[in-house]
Amino acid sequence: MASRIRPLGLALRTLPRTGAVAAARFPSSIATQAAARVAASARRSLSLKSFFTSRRPASESFTSQFEPVLEQADLFHPLSKSPLAPVRAKAEWIVAHGTCPVCKEHAPEEKSKAPKHECPDCGYPTHCSEEHYNMDKEHHKHVCGTLREVNEDEHDLRSGRRMKEFEFPGAQHRDEAINLSNWDTFLYTRGFLSMNSERSMRHVSHVLTYPLTIGSVLHQSSPYQLGKDLTVEGLKSLAALRHTLHPAMIPGITQSQDLRSTATHTVRIFCLGARAESHLPPHIYMQLAYLFPTTAFQIHFVGPDAIPPHTKSKEPHQHVHYEQMTFVYDNSRYESYHAEAGPFNPYYDVFFLFSPGLAHPSTKAMWKPTIPLLLDTKCAIFGTGFDEQDVMNDVNEIEGAGYELDWLMKPRENVFRSLKHEVNMTDVRQSAQCNWGIWGIRGRRYDVKPADE
Ligand SMILES: [Zn+2]
Ligand SMILES: [Zn+2]
Repeated sequence: MASRIRPLGLALRTLPRTGAVAAARFPSSIATQAAARVAASARRSLSLKSFFTSRRPASESFTSQFEPVLEQADLFHPLSKSPLAPVRAKAEWIVAHGTCPVCKEHAPEEKSKAPKHECPDCGYPTHCSEEHYNMDKEHHKHVCGTLREVNEDEHDLRSGRRMKEFEFPGAQHRDEAINLSNWDTFLYTRGFLSMNSERSMRHVSHVLTYPLTIGSVLHQSSPYQLGKDLTVEGLKSLAALRHTLHPAMIPGITQSQDLRSTATHTVRIFCLGARAESHLPPHIYMQLAYLFPTTAFQIHFVGPDAIPPHTKSKEPHQHVHYEQMTFVYDNSRYESYHAEAGPFNPYYDVFFLFSPGLAHPSTKAMWKPTIPLLLDTKCAIFGTGFDEQDVMNDVNEIEGAGYELDWLMKPRENVFRSLKHEVNMTDVRQSAQCNWGIWGIRGRRYDVKPADE
């Protein structure tokens, strides 16, 4: 599957705005409330949120809400002629705001004519006319297959079929090993059923990329290894966290004891500038918790777009408890949250920045005061980007700022990136994948003291 992933090196930061901060980052996830909120601006993505109502099995909520409308052999439709209204609306949006690449090439300064012509093979509005389409066919060929895949995936999500791939497994038996080498081994060893097509893998990876990106970095069976991906400093930081996350590793505690009762500390995961990741229903994050059955987690989603799913509340600070996890949603700026959430401890606290856009003009200023605060905690900080260029922009920004830091993980492809492509609707030649790449840093320290017990 990895062979299908390619760095696109494309700037997707010109996407339609959804909010002051959110706008500059990756197009929000299909699986999130963000997608639903974008509907108003006609950036029509399907929302998987409706499939995940509270604790009911996905299939139950699904079948109760939708009548089957499309057969599996009937998933391809030109966007403008789709039987699904949201897909037709998407076509209208692209026509209104999209670009004809041929017009653009001939007169880059002028606004191109509306891309009214739909490619018969992918169904997307791609060019202003059949003539320009034919002139550009050789170029379009390179993206046509991906667009067709996205087209069919969207129709599949709304087809009304029972989405068995979203019926996620519960807790793992303690003796069963989880293999985090890649999506396939994870899904297989965790007992995910009905993962029998690449399309199902795309759907599921798109939802699970956030919890699994976190889990795969922190877990003792991480695919990221010393020398290859991790630096010595990276291993030190992760060893500290794993000391808390895998209490069975503590001498004197055996597997036969009730490990839960020995978990004396809660691991706090801070997702800053949170957006799509905060809109996932809590039970999705249980797939992270199941990797660490003896650990209690707090996940802090901080940022103006950090909003819990299934709520109409506009409270700027909310808590949700779900089994061994507590979710905190806070809309304050990180600088003020930092003081409240401290003190921080590298054994229990870790930061994740999902597609932060550290170098992007519209978010750069927001991150400027945040990064030194994070480095000051000496806790591990991991970041992702939606393609190679996005990752490198963040990395160059960090390196150029002259911070006192150590690299924990050199920038690389994220094993648990979303396999689904997100299309830039203002220029359908561009697409990217959620959490495509990953990197890790930490404020430089010269002395590591064990945590006070
Ligand atoms: Zn044209
Ligand atoms: Zn096409």
